[in-house]
Amino acid sequence: DARRQRMTTGGPGRTRDGYLVQLLANIGGPDDLDGALAAGAEGVGLYRTEFLFLGRPDAPSVAEQEQVYRAALAAFPGGRVVVRTLDAGADKPLAFLPPAAPEPNPALGERGLRLFEKYPKVMDAQLEALSVAAAVDRAGAVRAGTAAAELQVMAPMVATAQEAKWFADACHARGLPQAGVMIEIPAAVLRAESLVTVVDFVSIGTNDLAQYAFAADRQSGALGSLQDPWQPALLDLVAMTATAAADNGKPCGVCGESAADPAMACVFVGLGVTTLSMGAAALPAVRTGLGAHTLDQCQLAAQAARGASTAAHARAAARSHLPGLV
Ligand code: PEP
Ligand code: MG
Repeated sequence: DARRQRMTTGGPGRTRDGYLVQLLANIGGPDDLDGALAAGAEGVGLYRTEFLFLGRPDAPSVAEQEQVYRAALAAFPGGRVVVRTLDAGADKPLAFLPPAAPEPNPALGERGLRLFEKYPKVMDAQLEALSVAAAVDRAGAVRAGTAAAELQVMAPMVATAQEAKWFADACHARGLPQAGVMIEIPAAVLRAESLVTVVDFVSIGTNDLAQYAFAADRQSGALGSLQDPWQPALLDLVAMTATAAADNGKPCGVCGESAADPAMACVFVGLGVTTLSMGAAALPAVRTGLGAHTLDQCQLAAQAARGASTAAHARAAARSHLPGLV
């Protein structure tokens, strides 16, 4: 079954010279768990929890949420599960969490963590459900003599260190020891040094980080070239974040879809990113690509890409240092 297959296709992600890089799956609901296991994911790097909240008149109960979170933890004993709190608003409006006024630019509006500042009870309920799920998972693991999963909770759309601290404090107060934030707003990168000191980990969302850095709507096909993760400016933002995290001893992941490109994944590792999360289908190729190169090669590829002046040149320059990619 899927769980047994994990033993054969999985194992820790690593470079050819044995540098460990956790390879995790992005999932959007319980139906994605088997695919993540079958692809050899070491855990979940981004659990998008919006599905629990969309298309209903009110928020899901603590009990309903808890069951969902518990299933994810149970699927990865000894692994890591990063659950992102509700990222509503923008293209995913919720009837029961309306913004103060109609928003002409919803991508720049009351979305993600900003909604929780307005509706703290919704955040409380989600954190409570996560806390109970983790406790139940731990108790079950003790009974079965297995390892519990490590739950990490992450907030989307964080712009300032103050917001990050507010969220981390709320998690810690709920008995959730691992609280992190997504890095997807350029202001958070510019202040990454202070931001990483108040959280336990960060994870870069390159989809939104590119959107906000280049002022290019991620849903606009016409602006695709500005959404290209090979844009050297985006690589700079990733490097700044990874460096700030490393300087403070904090893990730094990437959970944007850009991590699904094996060459890009090697470059991220070369920039100092410590975990990669992506749609499960991409995991085997990324695992192979990473395993075909040394950390040194990844660092050279990263350096070459950042030295380029266009996205196309960055990609070509990186690939010239990654001969193991077909
Ligand atoms: C991102 O913004 O890169 C991300 C991973 O989150 P989402 O795509 O759900 O906004
Ligand atoms: Mg995002």
